[in-house]
Amino acid sequence: MTTSWLVDSRRIVIKIGSSLATLNGQSRDSWLSVLGEEIARLRQKGRDIVLVASGAVALGRPLLTGLSGRKLEEKQAAAALGQPRLMQAIGMAFAAHDVVVAQALLTLEDTETRHRWLTARATLDTLLRAGIVPVINENDTVATDEIRYGDNDRLAARVAQMIGAETLVLLSDVDGLYTADPRQSPEAAHIPMITDFDASYDAMAGDRNATAGIGSGGMVTKLEAARIAWAAGCKTVITLGLRTQPLSALEAGEKATWIVPPVSPETARLAWLSGHLRPEGTVFVDAGAAAALQRGASLLPVGIVAVEGRFDRGAAVAICGPDKALIGKGVTAYGAVDIATIAGLQTEAAEARLGYRGRPAIIHRNDLVLTEGSGPES
Ligand code: GLU
Repeated sequence: MTTSWLVDSRRIVIKIGSSLATLNGQSRDSWLSVLGEEIARLRQKGRDIVLVASGAVALGRPLLTGLSGRKLEEKQAAAALGQPRLMQAIGMAFAAHDVVVAQALLTLEDTETRHRWLTARATLDTLLRAGIVPVINENDTVATDEIRYGDNDRLAARVAQMIGAETLVLLSDVDGLYTADPRQSPEAAHIPMITDFDASYDAMAGDRNATAGIGSGGMVTKLEAARIAWAAGCKTVITLGLRTQPLSALEAGEKATWIVPPVSPETARLAWLSGHLRPEGTVFVDAGAAAALQRGASLLPVGIVAVEGRFDRGAAVAICGPDKALIGKGVTAYGAVDIATIAGLQTEAAEARLGYRGRPAIIHRNDLVLTEGSGPES
């Protein structure tokens, strides 16, 4: 069954480390071209693909003549040099297979602050809807130690969560997780699948990046990434990247570790929305909007009659119906002041009143959960 998991995923995030994308300070063009071909095949089946690619520092470092490229600011300078070269290599390799790529550089703040999360997600969604493959890296030139991921494994997991991916593929220099470090313990056994992801697995991961090459993520960061994905209902698969066709190999059942959560991204998202959000305000909606929400629609300005509380874009708010009864909860794309300004207006009028074009919905359908017993009719 694992053989169909990749291709059955509607949205897939693939992470490639520096040791795959580059070799001796040069891009690994022929490998990237095969990856492009593999991604093109998944695209043709209608799958949305996001690639998280490292290699900026590795490509830029040799160009920083006279500097070691090891200090933080030198690494950042190396990333500034290497990132356009990385994109050029990926862009050219993928263009040969008619895959169009876009670049998105994210920082920790973009994935951890809710209003920035919403923005990044909207951009990625738009690119995916246009059939483009976003290529993501950390914005290394501005991310400093305290505010940086440092490894793209966890960044990739956050991206998987952001876009509601069903599968996160970590292409690595090992073919999965072992009961001990296989480079040191001959008795180490490969683990093909994890469905009970308890803390015992962390002990198996060994020292961070013990002898791995030039990337910064070892098995520890891969497991941290897998935990983020797990909480988001997204499967993680760790497998060897340096195969000729690493994605086809997965579908052929080659060695890998699949970490499989008990719920889907949809269920995880609804659980998060209903369990973890503390409302900072309330929007009151009319009967028409309440009925539309029950049918699974987004909340538009026209349906809002009043707003209570002081909150910014990205806040959690309670949604109450005409009789003031709580009907749901959601993450709002507008702050309280703007909602009050456009309450009751049609979308065009709202735009004119605000003086800018905001998101079409006050709360997008994917960002709201209806209270028990009032969900969309099935
Ligand atoms: N963002 C870094 C780069 O592109 C790599 C981080 C990592 O190794 O995961 O060089």
